[in-house]
Amino acid sequence: MMRAAILLALMAATSAALAAAPDTSLRPVARPADMAAAAPQSEWQARGLRTSIRPVARPQNLVTVRARPAPVQTVSPTRQIVRPAGEPATRVEQNSGGGVMAALRPLLRPLGINRKADARKRQLLRGAVCGDPAIQGEQVGRVPGRIAGCGIEDAVKVRSIDGVSLSQHALMDCQTARTIKSWMQRDMAPAVGNYGGGVAQLRVAAHYACRTRNNQRGAKISEHGKGHAIDITGFTLRDGKTITVLNDWGGGKKGAILRKMHRTACGPFGTVLGPESDRFHQDHFHFDTARYRSGSYCR
Ligand SMILES: [Zn+2]
Repeated sequence: MMRAAILLALMAATSAALAAAPDTSLRPVARPADMAAAAPQSEWQARGLRTSIRPVARPQNLVTVRARPAPVQTVSPTRQIVRPAGEPATRVEQNSGGGVMAALRPLLRPLGINRKADARKRQLLRGAVCGDPAIQGEQVGRVPGRIAGCGIEDAVKVRSIDGVSLSQHALMDCQTARTIKSWMQRDMAPAVGNYGGGVAQLRVAAHYACRTRNNQRGAKISEHGKGHAIDITGFTLRDGKTITVLNDWGGGKKGAILRKMHRTACGPFGTVLGPESDRFHQDHFHFDTARYRSGSYCR
């Protein structure tokens, strides 16, 4: 009985509260005519609570300021931008647009450069042999020898090394290609320095050839017959000048460069032969990667 009475009292209280609800409900209510007429009287009202509830007619001076240059400093209550007298209203918009582009430009430019560098890298990787982008050419594989002792197990045909072209594409093994590359970088390039702009091309007279040493009957198989050797008659420089073993070994600037090249090749290569070795090498350097227990043979 007692519990039922409490329940009834609660229900009565709730219905009383619901009856009072229309005053505070969210339903649109007819706006008193005097309130509409009263808006807006002051800046406080324009920026205050009322404006967050319903739009207010924009003050006349704000509309004109945006349309044409302001004659005086104006503070816009909606944008809070202090604009110097005489400056067009569009200046801020133009600047912010330019500012965005200027901010993006340093990002966009490296992207273009990177794309070019990536394309160059891909191109180099496509032409790379011996797993080295600095050695460009084509994979050949096994080159069978015509006679016993000749041949290359895993040959490459080299077109350029470290950006320096070979006048004829040279067949050799990777050990020899890598040795030529490191000699070019560490010894040949410093020997030439800036002379003639540096070396553009190696003038190659011979590479792989299945033959005996110096083509002499009964002699041992040459290192040329194993893909271990290269014969270089000279160098073409970037300005078109040439340095040749035949003409320039004697002396002068070119002679000094050639002697330095000959000397520095001894060690990286197992055999180094030049004009002072024998009558077969008056016009070229012979470099090969043969290994002797006694060390390099250089003449
Ligand atoms: Zn040779």
